[in-house]
Amino acid sequence: MTAAYVLGSRGHQVEVIEREAAPAMQTSYANGGQLSYTHAQPWANPDALPKVIKWMFQEDAPLVLKFSTDPHMITWGLRFLLNCNTRRANLSTKIMLRLGLYSRDKLAKIREETKLEYNHLSKGILHIFGSQLGLDGALKQARFQETLGAKEELLTREQCFAREPALKNATKSIAGGLYSDLDESGDLHVFTQKLAAYCIDNFGARFTYNANITRLRIEGGRIVAVETSQGDRTADAYVMAMGSYSPLLLRPIGLNMPIYPMKGYSITIPAWEGAPQVSITDDEKKVVISRLGDKVRAAGTAEFARYNTDVREVRITPIVRCLSDLFPDAQFGNMSRWACLRPQTPDGPPIIGRTKIENLFMHTGHGTLGWTQSPGSAHLLADIMENRPTEIPLEGLEASRY
Ligand SMILES: Cc1cc2nc3c(=O)[nH]c(=O)nc-3n(C[C@H](O)[C@H](O)[C@H](O)COP(=O)(O)OP(=O)(O)OC[C@H]3O[C@@H](n4cnc5c(N)ncnc54)[C@H](O)[C@@H]3O)c2cc1C
Repeated sequence: MTAAYVLGSRGHQVEVIEREAAPAMQTSYANGGQLSYTHAQPWANPDALPKVIKWMFQEDAPLVLKFSTDPHMITWGLRFLLNCNTRRANLSTKIMLRLGLYSRDKLAKIREETKLEYNHLSKGILHIFGSQLGLDGALKQARFQETLGAKEELLTREQCFAREPALKNATKSIAGGLYSDLDESGDLHVFTQKLAAYCIDNFGARFTYNANITRLRIEGGRIVAVETSQGDRTADAYVMAMGSYSPLLLRPIGLNMPIYPMKGYSITIPAWEGAPQVSITDDEKKVVISRLGDKVRAAGTAEFARYNTDVREVRITPIVRCLSDLFPDAQFGNMSRWACLRPQTPDGPPIIGRTKIENLFMHTGHGTLGWTQSPGSAHLLADIMENRPTEIPLEGLEASRY
């Protein structure tokens, strides 16, 4: 949607083809709500490997990896492993932080231009740690990121409570925290739906819903049509923005993009009196919590389950437990549950820009940070499509890196 918005605002005639009946019904439906620009450490880092092995045998672990015979999963997994070293992790951090900070400015610009309201809160994100060991490890990464222009504040347990008083009642131990005032939060579903309406009203963008794209038809090295359940669609240029489903239409035209569906879960409950305003990340449990107006959302866990989006109670339970340990006043009577697929690349950054097919461009693979990064990546995409210089380097974002 951000790609549609930026291209539309620059005077291009945009058509969005979507198989759902409305915008943001897939991964952008009930995510964690964080705009975590400074959360730039990729999943693939030197600490990931021992954790993944430990978690393999634990059904309620933050990440569940099962042995699989799926060749795409195996290739993806090998690429992931190759990125689990300090050099690659630092490089990905640099790329994702640069994109995150750029995206922060671009989202502010979108807010200013559109005046959209989506329960945006500029109250920062507080990462909390149950043990000093966890805090010390994260501090190393924070110090590295400080050299790249993103400062996080080290907080004692009491300072965490002062920052977010709702944490005072927590029944689990909090050793300390890291706080970034650059980070924000809000409701992605509301944002995306309102942005779609804005594109229609202001740029005459066309939205074709309930249209399943079945094939990208190529002739002479160019896409000549997109085949859909509602007939063919043609354009001068095409943007691949199908999230986790992108590889399914790219493979048949010879583009093997390592995007794998990484399933995540969320719960949403009504906000209670004194519910948190500052977005929280429980680093140990890998659960994020955001206040979305009169609701509180908690999201997390990662599971490799191919294209299965069933909600499994065993994965919901740790999120509920984390939320109730931190906020004993939370009420779960009217809880909604959700699961969906993050379009995850093995190294972390999304895939933006040109492909070897002249009129096909990428805006996909945003993984765990799709909302956080897409206002920025959409501007990069539009610059590339218009043959203009980009405002930040494209290093580490292009399809050619694979
Ligand atoms: C549990 C969870 C928590 C998360 N928390 C955060 C967070 O706090 N902050 C953050 O920044 N990110 C977060 N993310 C990641 C973020 O939500 C995603 O990166 C982002 O939503 C991806 O957006 P997208 O537009 O690329 O994909 P999607 O929103 O999935 O959009 C792709 C669209 O393509 C359509 N489509 C697919 N195939 C076809 C086809 N064949 N024909 C027609 N249409 C098709 C789909 O219907 C879908 O609407 C989270 C993700 C999960 C799962």
